[in-house]
Formats: sequence, structure tokens, C-alpha cells
Amino acid sequence: MTSDPSAESTLPPLILAQIATLQRNPLRPLLAVDADEVLFYFIRGLAGWLESRALYFDWSSFALAGNIRARGDNQPVPREALGSLLDDFFSEATAGLEPVDGAADSLARLSRHYDIVVLSNQPASAKPARELALARHGMAYPVLANSGPKGPAMAALMAANARMPAAFVDDIPSHHGSVAKHAPSARRVHFIAEPRLAPMLGKAEFSNVRLNSWAEIETDLMQFLSKAA
Ligand SMILES: [Mg+2]
Repeated sequence: MTSDPSAESTLPPLILAQIATLQRNPLRPLLAVDADEVLFYFIRGLAGWLESRALYFDWSSFALAGNIRARGDNQPVPREALGSLLDDFFSEATAGLEPVDGAADSLARLSRHYDIVVLSNQPASAKPARELALARHGMAYPVLANSGPKGPAMAALMAANARMPAAFVDDIPSHHGSVAKHAPSARRVHFIAEPRLAPMLGKAEFSNVRLNSWAEIETDLMQFLSKAA
């Protein structure tokens, strides 16, 4: 929800440097999971944080632009002001976001079969807070702070275990399009954790499947591995 789908599909050097630090096993499948609205209830957290700023989230669509409004006159925050507002949110609230139901337990079981990486579009400065929140909630997996479309990062991650299956979980349709283009063999699972948002959007066009809980995702990703074997 924070990415710009029109951004160039190139791999920022910062991501490449982060990927280079990962200890990857070429014989293990890869699972790249998004953080916001996949492992953490992002909009729920944002809505609470906005209250301290005399703003509110109006829950009218699956989008940030236009849905953050002033409590006084109900006017939306202008698009050009969203970036710095979200930077403040990431810096102040990332560590305290509520984890998504079932995510930690499913990932713990999936980690017996997959190398798990958290591929999150977020400011690099919020990476320590993200790692802290993940560790606090039993999900201490490596974090990659990405920006822009996620396909190039997914392709770079998959180069380390090119013969093994790979899977990708994200809430934002444009990332599924980018991964379909740059890393087409990856299993693409579309998931929007927040029950108030999920009904507002159908299956992402370039995903393989839309699922609605971590229990469903775990089953799907185990079936994917058994079919790929
Ligand atoms: Mg997300």
C-alpha cells in the first residue's frame, strides 16, 4: 500500500547490499513474505496513530491516498504530504504494530521447509524497529527494506537457490504483477490480513491464488512444495 506501482523496475543498490548479507542455502526453498497487512495489521495501527495527529483513516477503500482525513473538516491529506506522514508513522509506530493472527505459528512450521525472508517496502531507518517487532512476536526472520516494485528483489533472492521452489506473499496487487514479470516461477499468494479491508479488493490479477488466513496460506505453500518435488 505504500509502494508506487509506476516506479522503475530496477533493483536499488541498497537492496542488493542487504541480499548479499543473507545466509542462503541453495538447497532450501524460499518464502518471501511482506510485513504490512501480511504479518502486521498496518492500517489498524495507522488508524490508531492518526488519532494523535487530529487525523483519521476512513476505511472507504484499499488505499492510503484519499483515506487519511482531517478530523475537523474531513478533507483528505494531500497526496504530496503522505510521504512524510508515513515516514513519521514508520519511525514512531513500526515497533508497536499488532501481529496478524496465526502468522507466527504458520511461519514457524513453514520454516522447517522454507528459508523465510521478510520483504517489506519501508524506510531503511525503520528496519531495526521492524526486526524488534518481529522478534518480539516470534518471527525473527531477516528483513529486507525494499522500495518500489518487488519483482527485481524477488528475482535477486531466487538467484541463490535457482533450482528450488520459491513463494511470495503480499497484499498489494502491483507487487504480484512485478513478481510475475521478474520471477514468474514463484508461487504468488495474495493476502490482505485486515478483515475490514479484505472484502474491498478481489484477487490480484497476477497472483496465483487469493487466500484469507495464515492457516490457508500454510496449507497452500505445503501443497506447492509437494507438487514441486
Ligand atoms: Mg503490505
